[in-house]
Amino acid sequence: MGNRKLVVSTGNKHKILEIREILEGLNIEVLSKNDIGFEGFDIVEDGETLEDNSIKKAKALSDKTDYIVIADDTGLFVNALNGEPGVYSSRYAGQEGNDKKNCEKLINNLEGIEDRSAYFKTVIALITEDKKILKAEGICKGMIIEEARGDKGFGYDPIFVPEGFDKTFAELGHDVKNKISHRALALIELKNILIKIASGS
Ligand code: IMP
Repeated sequence: MGNRKLVVSTGNKHKILEIREILEGLNIEVLSKNDIGFEGFDIVEDGETLEDNSIKKAKALSDKTDYIVIADDTGLFVNALNGEPGVYSSRYAGQEGNDKKNCEKLINNLEGIEDRSAYFKTVIALITEDKKILKAEGICKGMIIEEARGDKGFGYDPIFVPEGFDKTFAELGHDVKNKISHRALALIELKNILIKIASGS
C-alpha cells in the first residue's frame, strides 16, 4: 500500500495507539491531528447524529490536509429511554466529560424500569486523499446495571455489561473490551475499507 498517511481527528493518545494496533500490517502511518500541527483544532460536536458529528469533524480536518482523514463519534443508546443519552453521551448530566455524574443520571433515569437493554455505537467517517467520504460502524449490545462496578474503564463502562458476559466493561478490562467493543468493531470495518481502497476495488 506504499507509505500512505492517515490522520485521526483526535489528540487522544490511547485512541491513536488502539487504531495503530488494529491497522498494523497495512503499511499506513497513523498520525494524530497534533502530529500535523493542528493541536488546538477542535470542532464543535453539535450534529443530531453520530454520523453528522463524525463527518463534520473529518471534513474540517480534510480541508486542511491531503492525507487520509478519519474521525469518530460514539454514543450509548438506552432503549427504554428512547435512545438517550445517544449523541449527547459525553454531556448527559450537563457538564462535558463528567463520567461519574453521567452514570448517576442514567441510573436514576432508569430507576424502576425493567428493560435495561442498551447499546454502544461508534461511527467512523473516513475521507480519502481524493476527498471521497466513507463510513464504518460498530455496535456492542448489553445491559445497564443498577450500581457501578469496576475501575478499569471510562465513561459508562462501570454500568454497562456487554451481552454474553456478567461483568461490566470496567471489570473486564482492556484486553476483553478491545476485542468486542463498538469501537473495535468499527475499526475492523475501517481496516477492511482501507484494504479495499488499497486494492483499487
Ligand atoms: P467519544 O465520541 O469517543 O468522545 O465518546 C462520547 C462519550 O461516550 C464519552 O464521553 C463517554 O461518555 C461515552 N463513551 C464513548 N466510548 C465509550 C466506551 O467505550 N465506554 C464507555 N463510555 C464510552
